[in-house]
Amino acid sequence: SHPGNVSPYHRAMAKAPVLTPRADDFPRWYQDLISKAELADNGPVRGTMVIRPYGYGLWERMQAEMDARIKETGTQNAYFPLLIPQSYFAREADHVEGFAPELAVVTHGGGKELEEPAVVRPTSEMIINDYFSKWVQSYRDLPLLINQWANVVRWELRPRLFLRTTEFLWQEGHTAHATYEEARDFAAHIQRHVYGDFLTSVLAMDFVSGRKTVKERFAGAVNTLTLESMMGDGKALQMVTSHELGQNFAKAFNTRYLSREGRQELVWQTSWGSTTRMIGALVMTHGDDNGLRVPPRLAQIQVVVLAIKGDEAVLAKVRELGDRLKAAGLRVHVDDRTDTPFGRRAVDWELKGVPVRIEVGPRDLENGTAMLARRIPGGKEPMPIDSLVRLLPAILDEDQALLLTQSRERRESRTSDVSTIGEAVEVARDGGWARIPWADLGEEGEAALAEHAVTVRCLVAADGSVPDADDAPGNVAVVARAY
Ligand code: AMP
Repeated sequence: SHPGNVSPYHRAMAKAPVLTPRADDFPRWYQDLISKAELADNGPVRGTMVIRPYGYGLWERMQAEMDARIKETGTQNAYFPLLIPQSYFAREADHVEGFAPELAVVTHGGGKELEEPAVVRPTSEMIINDYFSKWVQSYRDLPLLINQWANVVRWELRPRLFLRTTEFLWQEGHTAHATYEEARDFAAHIQRHVYGDFLTSVLAMDFVSGRKTVKERFAGAVNTLTLESMMGDGKALQMVTSHELGQNFAKAFNTRYLSREGRQELVWQTSWGSTTRMIGALVMTHGDDNGLRVPPRLAQIQVVVLAIKGDEAVLAKVRELGDRLKAAGLRVHVDDRTDTPFGRRAVDWELKGVPVRIEVGPRDLENGTAMLARRIPGGKEPMPIDSLVRLLPAILDEDQALLLTQSRERRESRTSDVSTIGEAVEVARDGGWARIPWADLGEEGEAALAEHAVTVRCLVAADGSVPDADDAPGNVAVVARAY
């Protein structure tokens, strides 16, 4: 037994819950977690956010995994200005109408009123097309595949940390192609092989992949693809989107190329984005009443090795073990802050959702063991140090798979097929998703749902694939309350 180390931990855990329990108040639990796991704080301007190092570490890991997948598609990173001449926004009617209410506009600079106000980018279609129209001359310049990592500003009326902030961080991909088919296929490829793969294999998040209705489409797009995930309270969250822009922006900016046949043709375009919202989604998908649970493939700390007491032998052992695990290719943090009580530190790592803790105390040194605490399935057991080192990679894989299974099972168990609007509203109100034939719903039905704060998250084909058209026979609407 481990009298010297187990009991302080249990003592700490037995105290009043650290977070508001999810069942009592889910939004409050979310706020508590963000703050106590030290992910973010509210900024001084309403809707802005300070991302703290532990939260930013999650974002950096997301960026790294996503960036590698984006580059696999042949897309290159570039950077465009934050400020966009206001007049550009008048060029594409749907786009300007969609974004006008959310724009932040700079009217003064250097102490003077500007001749032309500048919009703080809410997205970069406008400025990027200005340059695409210069860069694209002939079919040899296509496809043009560009991505930008940046911050954007949308003046949100109902801000919420990570999920909907006034300024957020994202990647935005912008591409130009010679044909409609190529652009359509590229948007679908991003949705599936960049976003879908990232969500499944890194974030361990289940989703439904579908097509947005006309009402929910991106302003200026001819088609928007979406991945929608179910959060812990059964609400939906739009995770990422990939748009077919058709030739709308090409027309607005006269982005043309000389075809093989010697004709001047407009390009076909896509744009696609994923944001710091994914951090909020991670919390609301995998978090529990003790805090966050970070999927091992995402975690910037996969294993934390904790010294229970500050004696020299214990400290030497945790450092040595930390080095061994790092050499084995794991992302490891050694917690030797023994001036903070052990129970307190254990609770903090639990809140931050580090997948595995290895706790070493004086008694362990004699036995050649350590305590293995697993955050994802829960539970603690003593283990010989050598087996621990050998088993850890498989343990982390198992935890990764478990999170994905739990996320998938949640959606499956809370989704029902219905045939009336009344039933759909009831399912959504009870924290579930309803599937209703689009032919039975239509735009009128969609408007009726909106009165109950219920929305069509996306349309899927009868076989679960992404439909080619809004009104394709057999289309099913996935209906839910959403963040
Ligand atoms: P859009 O350019 O409107 O298609 O947005 C791209 C992605 O950004 C969406 O799929 C959302 O997941 C995300 N998003 C939109 N608005 C916000 C916001 N205010 N804060 C964080 N993420 C957002």
